[in-house]
Order: sequence, then C-alpha cells, then structure tokens
Amino acid sequence: MSIIGRFAPSPTGPLHRGSLVAAVGSWLFARAAGGLWLVRMEDLDTPRLVPGADREILAALRLYGLEWDGEVVYQSQRIALYEDALRRLRERGAVFDCGCSRAELQRAASAPAASDPQERIYPGTCRDGLAPGRPPRAIRFRAPAEVIAFDDLVVGHVEENVANETGDFVVKRADGVFAYQLAVVVDDAAQGVTQIVRGADLLSSTARQIALQRALGVPTPVYGHVPLVVDELGNKIGKRDGALPLPLLDESRVRSTLADALKTLGFEVAPAKPEKMLADAISLLKARENERPPA
Ligand code: GLU
Repeated sequence: MSIIGRFAPSPTGPLHRGSLVAAVGSWLFARAAGGLWLVRMEDLDTPRLVPGADREILAALRLYGLEWDGEVVYQSQRIALYEDALRRLRERGAVFDCGCSRAELQRAASAPAASDPQERIYPGTCRDGLAPGRPPRAIRFRAPAEVIAFDDLVVGHVEENVANETGDFVVKRADGVFAYQLAVVVDDAAQGVTQIVRGADLLSSTARQIALQRALGVPTPVYGHVPLVVDELGNKIGKRDGALPLPLLDESRVRSTLADALKTLGFEVAPAKPEKMLADAISLLKARENERPPA
C-alpha cells in the first residue's frame, strides 16, 4: 500500500515550534516510506483566522525544505463535502440536533469540573429529541458506548471509550461552522490519507475521529502522535511564545530551529542545509525501523 501523509495546519498564525514538529514528523514518516505528503489548510474556524497566515506557513515550510505534493487544499472551499457527510450521518441516525446553550451545559449536573465546555461530557439532554419549542443549535454525533482501540506509531496501544470520555460531541457548531472533528475525517478520507502524524495534543481526538470514520464507512488511517514542544517548566509552547515569524528566519536560525524540531522527534542531526538535515533524519528513522523486532 502506498503511504499518503499530510500536514493540516490551522492558519491562525505563523508556523510555531510546536506545529513545525508536527510538520517535520509527518513529512519524515511519509517520505521515509516513499509516500506522498499533502498540505491542507484547516480554515473553517473563521473567527480565529489570521489573514495571510496560510501564505506565511507555506513560505516557512519551503524554507525548512518541506516540499509537499499537489495543490494545497483549503477546507473553506470544501463545505459541500461536509454537508454531504452530515446528510449521510443524519440518514443513519448517527447525529441529532442539540438545543443546549453553553450556560446550560455548564450547569449540567453530570458534567465534571472542567473549565472548558468542550471538555465536559455531554449530559445527553437532547439525545432523544429536542424539548417542545426548543430551537436547534449545534448538531451532535451519538458517541458509541464501546472501547475504540488503535496502535499509534509513536505512543503504542491506545484505548478510549468516547461515550465515557467526551460523550456525544459537536459536528456542526451553533454558529454554523463545521467542527474540526467532522471536517478532518471527511478530508482525510477524501484525500486518501493513510498515515496521520501530528502533535500529541490531538491524541484525545483520535477515538472520536475513528468513531466518525466507522459511521461514515471510510477507512481508518494509521496514527502517530509526536511529542509536544514544552518549555523548561513542562508547559506546552503555544502560538504566542513559540511563534517563528518569517523575518526572523535567517539561514542559521532555520538550521537551529530545524535541529531542535528533529531533536524533539528523537533525531540528533548536525546543522546543515535543511534538505541535508532531513535526509539524515530519514536515514536515522529507517535505521530505527530496521532495529524494531518484527511484529
Ligand atoms: N488543524 C489542526 C491544528 O492545527 C490539526 C489537525 C490534524 O492534524 O488532525 O491543530
């Protein structure tokens, strides 16, 4: 089977240290296997978009020697695909209209004390239909009450019961925006992606995405979740402190930043032209794979 990998940044700012690790990791795993590497702009969350960030991310990828295959895909131009997937889910009874407001969800007794409403377990209020007179707001996917298991290329065996961890989750938001979880599954399937390498912050989204793949009858890719970049205190480096605006990227900075990203991925590579550093990392990755005992 030929490998198709991808990098799917949200153009909400320039490439930062964390997203560079995801870009390099997905590129390495795809290229080491002789596969394709696609780039997709996840630009659905309009309130968070930064104009020009897409071009800045692409220019940075080129500077780091990360060449992609084919045209860059923009999710904002693919709404019909998400509408179609949602229609199929509805026909199968896999989604339902939810009339709950944020405040109601926050008050719901069964919710744990998480500050982010996205992290609370949905209490199931509208699962069996909206109360009379209630307008629909978001659309939710019925979380299957089963353990979803997968073998991650980096972190190993993972199991999650979506019903217990998140409950019925949003696939179309109250503001009409298709949720990341649905769009990512639809696009990875439509683009024939077979290998998803991305940051470990998305590990907890994977079981939800596999549940959606099963409901839509599309294949599940192989997943690999690479380490997050953390500061000295172990906190995740965010967009603000890890941002790498292009004007700052002179040649020596590109080399040292790429060396850091490769180190986070477990590859010690001497600073050189980015293409050479990436080729060295591919050799190291291949050597590592050959050392692994056969499954
Ligand atoms: N767009 C997502 C992000 O930038 C990543 C999506 C993915 O790799 O699945 O966090």
